[in-house]
Amino acid sequence: MKNLKNALLLKQLYQLKQLGYRYTSASIYKEDEPDLTLPDTLEKLEEQAKKCHLCELSKNRTNVVFGEGNPQATLMFIGEGPGASEDSMGRPFVGRSGELLTKMIENVLQMPRGEVYIANIVKCRPPNNRAPSPTEAHTCHPYLLKQIALIKPKIIMTLGGTAYHYMTADETAISKVRGTLLQQNGYTLIPTYHPSFLLRNPSAKKEVFEDLKKVKALLQQL
Ligand code: URA
Repeated sequence: MKNLKNALLLKQLYQLKQLGYRYTSASIYKEDEPDLTLPDTLEKLEEQAKKCHLCELSKNRTNVVFGEGNPQATLMFIGEGPGASEDSMGRPFVGRSGELLTKMIENVLQMPRGEVYIANIVKCRPPNNRAPSPTEAHTCHPYLLKQIALIKPKIIMTLGGTAYHYMTADETAISKVRGTLLQQNGYTLIPTYHPSFLLRNPSAKKEVFEDLKKVKALLQQL
């Protein structure tokens, strides 16, 4: 919640600067501190995220890509951030990477895509599909944490190095950590390669297949 608070404070300071203020006392903010509690339903959280302007990414977005799927999903996938197709449709993983992710879910895990929940580290498209900056990822993180707290997945599969890094603060290369199981905050996190990496490096599909088989086994044990 501290990131959200800092981002709101920074936004207020920029607004005052634009109005010509050069100095302000900190006490101003104590008087009308914004309500920082995030809503307790996914619907209301989505409404709030759709109005979010806390970081630079909001300026160029067409749509906020909140996430989609089963609100009680046992398995959640977390990608990096929306691409062009996702930005125009307001849905996660609907482009070429999305087609591959859908195949991974349906053909390997043998479950409908609608049974899992799919979200991203950031909810707005980074320009030219670059990775989200630390500020963007941290500013958006409270929304993702609240989604996880409401959905309560038992397993989270992170897609690619960026998602793994922002979910764990571990900077180890994805090639080293993929397929390993990490217990944190009441769920098992399992990192794997991003589908867009697989589109460029189809030979890595066999490793992702192994990682998905581990997810399938974990699901069967629940
Ligand atoms: N890549 C991502 O990381 N997320 C999406 O939603 C689409 C592509």
